[in-house]
Order: sequence, then C-alpha cells, then structure tokens
Amino acid sequence: MIPARYGASRFPGKLMQDLGGKPVIVRTYEAAKNTQLFDEVYVVTDSDVIFNEIEINGGKAIMSIKAHESGSDRIAEAVENMDVDIVVNVQGDEPFTSKKGLQEVLEVFNGDDADKIDLASLMTEIEDWKEISDPNCVKVIIDQDNFALYFSRSPIPYPRDKNATVNYYKHKGIYAFRKEALMDFYRLPMQSLEAVEKIECLRYLEYGKKIKMAVTKTQGVEIDTPEDLVEANKMLKKEQKSTVNNKFKNFPMVPKVVFGSGCFDQLPDILAPQRQKNAPFIFLVDDVFKNDTSFIDRIKLRFNDKLIFISAEEEPKTSQVDQIVKEITSEFTKKPSGIIGIGGGTLMDIAKAVSIMLTNQGSAADYQGWDLVKNKAVYHVGIPTISGTGAEVSRTTVLSGPIRKLGINSDYTPFDQVVLDPQLTKGVPKNQWFYTGMDCFIHCVESLNGTFINAFSQSYGEKAYDLCKEIFVDQTVSDEESRAKLMMASWHGGMSIAYSQVGVAHAMSYGLSYVLGTKHGIGNCIVFNQLEEFYPKDVVLFKEMVKSHKIEIPKDVCANLTEKQMDKMIDIALSLVPLWENALGEKWESIMTRTKLKELYLKM
Ligand code: NAD
Ligand code: ZN
Repeated sequence: MIPARYGASRFPGKLMQDLGGKPVIVRTYEAAKNTQLFDEVYVVTDSDVIFNEIEINGGKAIMSIKAHESGSDRIAEAVENMDVDIVVNVQGDEPFTSKKGLQEVLEVFNGDDADKIDLASLMTEIEDWKEISDPNCVKVIIDQDNFALYFSRSPIPYPRDKNATVNYYKHKGIYAFRKEALMDFYRLPMQSLEAVEKIECLRYLEYGKKIKMAVTKTQGVEIDTPEDLVEANKMLKKEQKSTVNNKFKNFPMVPKVVFGSGCFDQLPDILAPQRQKNAPFIFLVDDVFKNDTSFIDRIKLRFNDKLIFISAEEEPKTSQVDQIVKEITSEFTKKPSGIIGIGGGTLMDIAKAVSIMLTNQGSAADYQGWDLVKNKAVYHVGIPTISGTGAEVSRTTVLSGPIRKLGINSDYTPFDQVVLDPQLTKGVPKNQWFYTGMDCFIHCVESLNGTFINAFSQSYGEKAYDLCKEIFVDQTVSDEESRAKLMMASWHGGMSIAYSQVGVAHAMSYGLSYVLGTKHGIGNCIVFNQLEEFYPKDVVLFKEMVKSHKIEIPKDVCANLTEKQMDKMIDIALSLVPLWENALGEKWESIMTRTKLKELYLKM
C-alpha cells in the first residue's frame, strides 16, 4: 500500500512533480509493482488528481474517505475489509524503492522469532554527522536482536564518549505489518512521544509492540524538497542513459504544410477530405479577430461546424482546455472531424491540447510531461497569425496546470496540417511583433549555445538566427518579405529545439510566468536582457534591437515579490532540469544556485 497525501507540508504537490516525464507517485507505484513481491499494489490517496493519475497509468488506486493524521491510518482504513496477512507500507515519495530493501523487510517474517514480531521496518547506516544531527532524518537504536528500542529526530545515542564505537542508523519509511498490528494502530490513540517527535512508529513502542529492524545498504532518494527532486531526476537520467533506446529521439514532424501569401483561402479544400459525416470542424480562433468580419467570413463554416473565440490574454491553462473539451463534447455526440487553431502560440497550444483531450480521458493536467498521451488526437490544423514561438511545428503544448507549467510533449501533439499565410500576421501590434519574434531569436541562441546541439538542430537554428538578424537588425527587407521570413524563422527555430533544448532565459521565464502570470514572449525579453553573463554577444545584439525598435522592456518586475513568491519562482525555474543541463552542462547546479537565481531575478 502506498499512502499518498496531496498536500505534503514541506513540499506541497510533490507527489505530482515531474520525475523524468512521469509524476513521482507513478514512478513509486511502478517501482513497487516491478519488484513482483506483492499480490497487489495500491495507492491510497485523498486526492482526485493522484487517483486519476494512477488509474490513467493502468494502476490501482483507492480513495481514502476520512482525513488522516498519518500514512498508516490511511492504509489501515483501506485494508480494514481486505483479507490479507501482511501489509507493506511503501512511502509515496520514495520513487527508487528497490526490491532489495522490500525483500529484506519481508524476510523478517520468515525468521525464528517471527511470531514475536508485530511489524518490521528498515534502516540504513549513516556516518555523516550533518545527517545524524539533521531533525529531518529519523534515527533508530536497536537491541541485540535488532528490535527497535527508540526512534528520534535527535542524534541517538548521544556521543558523550567520542572514542566509543557505535553505529548510527537512519530509519527508512518502509513498514511491513501484520494486519492486526496495523488495525491496532488505527484504533489506539496517539501518545505523547509520537506527538512530540512526530514519528509514527513510536506509537507501537508506546503500546509495547515489537518492531524488528532489517538493515539495508541501498540509500534511495526521498523527495522531501525541490533539491531532492533535482537529485532524483539526475539519478533517473543516469539509469536511462544505459538503455540504448533512449539515446536517439525519433520524433514526428508536421506531415503537411502549405505556405504563401493568401493560402488561407485554400482551407476549405484542405479540410474537405477530412470531413466525416455529421462530425463538425471546430475552429478555435483568437478573439482579437472577433470584430474582423471580413476575416471571419473567409473561414466558411459548413454544416454543423462551430467557431469558438478564445482570449489570448492569459497563458493557456489545463483547466481552460478541459472546459473547451467539455463544451464540445456536451454539444456534439460525434467526435469532431477536426480542430483548427487560428491565432498565436496561445491558440496553437490550446488547439493541440484540445485535440488530444477529445480522445484521452481525464484532465489535460494528467498529461503534462513526456509521452503520457495514450491515444491519437483528433485531426488538428494550426494556422499561426503571429510568428516566433514555433508552436506551429513543435511536439509540445505548454500549459499552466494546478501545480506546474509544463508541456504535453508527445508524438500525438504536432499538427496534422499547418497553414502558413504571412498575410495573417499583418495586424500584429509592434510590441507584440517584437516580443514574439524575440522568442524565436532566443530559441536559436539557447539552442545554438547549448550543450545538446548537434548538426540537425544547428542547421535549423543557424538559419532562423540569420533570418531574425535580417528582420530585426539589418531591416533591409520590405514589410511583406519580412512577414514571410519571420514566419519561416519561427518554423526553423521550432525545429531547432526539437532536437535540442532551450536554456537559461526559458527556465527563468517559466518562473516569472508561473508566479506573476507574465506572458511568454515578454517574460523571455525581461529575462534575456539580464543574461550577458551567459549569452554575452547575443544579449548585446538583443539590446541593440530593443533600442532600434524603441521597445520598452518592463523593469523591476521582481522588486515587490514576497519571500514565498521568490522561493516559488526559484523552485519552478530549478525544476526544469533539461533546460539547465543544456545551458550549463551536467554540473549546472554548482553554477546556478538559489542565491545566484535570486540575484538575477532581482535585477529584472
Ligand atoms: P499569443 O498567442 O499569446 O498572442 C499575443 C497577442 O497577440 C494576443 O493579444 C493576441 O490576441 C494577439 N494577436 C495574435 N495574432 C494577431 C494578429 N494577427 N493581429 C493582431 N493581434 C494578434 O502570443 P505568442 O507569443 O504567439 O504565443 C505565446 C504562447 O506560446 C505562450 O503561451 C507560450 O507558452 C507558447 N509557446 C509555445 C511553444 C510550443 O512549442 N508549444 C513555444 C513557444 C511558446
Ligand atoms: Zn519560447
């Protein structure tokens, strides 16, 4: 049984944080299942989000009904009416739970003294005094037969005689109970030692039960803090590197694209062969076009087609995607023939996400991460009306969810068809043109200067970079040429990051956006403006462009942040491990510390 509380006090939402493309809790579930030591594995949770996540991934979950003080209470409620001998409690935040440790705990019930044992648990030797004196690390002392004498957050025993040899043990949160012991625990009220130390297993000792400890050498990683998460992501990466299959990405590209000034009018012909009987096309259109009747008339709705105006005022959200999907499914019994997104990066991402969520259960938030989408999306078409993000060509759709800002990155995300008509970008206001255009420029800079770069990415990145220079620096091309070129720069910039990654500006801009709602393009500019240290020549170039186009970059955006907001911003930025690795290499953490990030944010 894996008890899983959503709101852990020290690191809220930690079980749903991304660990190598899957939430921590799913990793833990899979690890427990893969040991093949158990007849059944369940997650017991108070949270719909966790429940759905486990079910979507083909696991078994139980909702606990009552509010519980501890994980043991939670699993006791779940097993009360189950016919079981031994129940093992695996911590939800131990994604690297190994077979060995679990086996050692279970083995205890095969020993000579098995009938004396109420429960078994695990410990590992520690030597570092920092860890021994850390109250987050629970120590345990044992008698000759390995029965626990006491658990404490204090260093036990106290080393009065510095020369006496003694081993220190850290308690690991894995328990195996006889069912009766677990049910006793559930019924018996908490006593004073447990209350003051906040250590569950003290309750057993306080009621005179026997806890036998097994020793393990496997350390594992518990996810207690955002730093632990970074550590865990690294461990996983190392494991994954050894499997050849992950070495080279095999990603899809947009299979059909039409380009040219005025090509938008070809849309009805493009869509016709995709139309299914009684199944509408749904047009998701940026509401900036709401009053532009001559443009809307060109869309040519047929039969039961539907047009929904959507505001790009805010960054797209998973809840917004869920809402649109609900609106569509409640109006139409047949699945749409297709979803057509018309607008900027915001509309591109919403269209991609809606097309995925029409064929996949649950909430869009369940699919934030890498390769979590199960079913092919409905046919979807992207028609950008502003250039720069590369969202029209990318394999992701970036969404703000309840706990993270992260893309739905999958083989089903890219559009089936893209219509590139430079005419459509004619009405874009100057500032916005610049901000979104700079997203492209920054994609190129981060990809070309990153450690992941290869010839594939470089060939696209260099082309897009040169086009950006032509448009924003040299300014020698006509407006019409410039629109066409920026559209292609966006495309190439998007392709460039397909095989590499973005870097410092994007990681930090995600933090701004999550905490302050800053929009992506402008957020990138605010950040990039202060990154001389990382991209010296390109930041100089950027500043020239800002000046020559008379753009005002907002200042002091972080000046009035509370400490909590600043911490969150830093957490979000640091959680984007692949971006940092690309930007600064494997040892990025020694360069980008929390202090350093804070300093940088305060400059913005
Ligand atoms: P946007 O879609 O947010 O639009 C910006 C503004 O321009 C809006 O007010 C919009 O109404 C307006 N606009 C769009 N087209 C216009 C036109 N033709 N005339 C007048 N006004 C017009 O801006 P964006 O910069 O294109 O997109 C930003 C979004 O893209 C962010 O949410 C970001 O996360 C996302 N993004 C996604 C990817 C990806 O690969 N999926 C990559 C980069 C950015
Ligand atoms: Zn971007």
